[in-house]
Amino acid sequence: MARNTYYRSPHWRALKKATHERDGWRCIVPGCQTPTHRLTCDHIKRRPNVDHPTAYDVLSNTRTLCGNHDVRVKELSSGKRRQGGRLIVMGAREDGTPLDPNHPWHRPST
Ligand SMILES: [Zn+2]
Repeated sequence: MARNTYYRSPHWRALKKATHERDGWRCIVPGCQTPTHRLTCDHIKRRPNVDHPTAYDVLSNTRTLCGNHDVRVKELSSGKRRQGGRLIVMGAREDGTPLDPNHPWHRPST
């Protein structure tokens, strides 16, 4: 399948840059420490596979992800995202506490 030419357009390049600038050139997943040279610009809602800019190609529908997180929630051909689109930081520190700041272990006990 030929790659969509939209991703070579000035419109996409400008949107990608604006997305990364808004997100501080970091993956938006809380706690993610992936180096910033592996950033991608992800559409939150899938854009139609056309070569021209669409209503989905706007800053409110994009986010900065690292390569690892982008792959983890990559859309399948069905349009569904892997892992239900859930973005978490995998792994744990040396003391065994999860890296994901939203992990239940980090919630204050009542
Ligand atoms: Zn990440």
